[in-house]
Amino acid sequence: MEKKSHHKVIILGSGAAGLTAAIYAARANLEPVVIEGSQPGGQLTITTDVENYPGFPKGIMGPELMEEFKKQAERFGAKMVFGDVTAVDLKKRPFELTAGKDGYTCDALIIASGATAKLLGLESEKKLMGYGVSACATCDGFFFKDKEVVVVGGGDTAMEEANFLTKYANKVAVVHRRDELRASKIMQDRAKKNSKISFIWDSAVEEITGDPKNGGVTGVKLKNLKTGAVIRHAVDGVFIAIGHEPNTKLFVGQLDMDELGYLITHNGTATKVPGVFACGDVQDRIYRQAVTAAGTGCMAAMDAERFLESQED
Ligand code: NDP
Repeated sequence: MEKKSHHKVIILGSGAAGLTAAIYAARANLEPVVIEGSQPGGQLTITTDVENYPGFPKGIMGPELMEEFKKQAERFGAKMVFGDVTAVDLKKRPFELTAGKDGYTCDALIIASGATAKLLGLESEKKLMGYGVSACATCDGFFFKDKEVVVVGGGDTAMEEANFLTKYANKVAVVHRRDELRASKIMQDRAKKNSKISFIWDSAVEEITGDPKNGGVTGVKLKNLKTGAVIRHAVDGVFIAIGHEPNTKLFVGQLDMDELGYLITHNGTATKVPGVFACGDVQDRIYRQAVTAAGTGCMAAMDAERFLESQED
């Protein structure tokens, strides 16, 4: 190990939750260190315009919003460290963390490692992300007024996104890899009753076409997995809704998780280990919004502050 340092509070993750926790912890003189993680700024850095974050009536670009969060945290003395935590030991205090060659210890830990939207893994999907490809209908649906989109997936998220998108889009086609949905009956029924929603069964997206510099997505190439037939479907947007994965692998066996791997919190943001708090998408499988992540980030910093005070007492 090259460096080892001790801190009162370490925040793991630099999305809306982590940076809000950093602002509050820094203003409480806890001199927090934020270990930014593999995607500094979190999921908002892969969206374009954010129009539902209060305080920005004209909207703001996701990466820019996160830059402002970061500046605000730094203004009060939060320290950002570029790196990804590869191991944690929460069995004893101070807690121990390893990030590459560096070691850290802390009296309180705030986990804000977020969740990652599962993607299809196509090169074209990566290229057009934010240019017609999205993994969040609530964030980006508004940009598809009177347009045509596809939603990929067959679970509750896909049904919910498809229904939500019909507020804007004229036509929403759900592309599912089987001929039966995984979604709950009530969500299936709602989608099937919606006249703007159609289903393309047994199909996988092979490619998303379009040019990020010239209007974005123009269509999808779909392969029927039963017949092998390939069709082209012209659309303006592609919403990937094949689930999210909370970034909790580091905590397996150390913290309680639900059956999907989300951290379980109680009494605000407390985990089962005193002094370890969790906020944002890593503990929220339902709302997953920047504003809710920021809200729980604030809670986690206040919970950590109270915990540290109680230790001094
Ligand atoms: P799920 O895992 O339930 O569903 C994922 C869907 O995406 C499945 O239909 C799956 O297909 C498909 N899929 C997965 N990987 C791929 C891939 N690589 N290519 C193509 N398709 C793929 O995830 P959800 O996010 O939908 O739901 C997660 C949890 O959250 C569930 O418990 C759900 O009930 C809950 N939820 C509840 C809501 C509500 O009640 N309002 C709203 C949203 C989520 P296949 O079926 O073939 O496996």
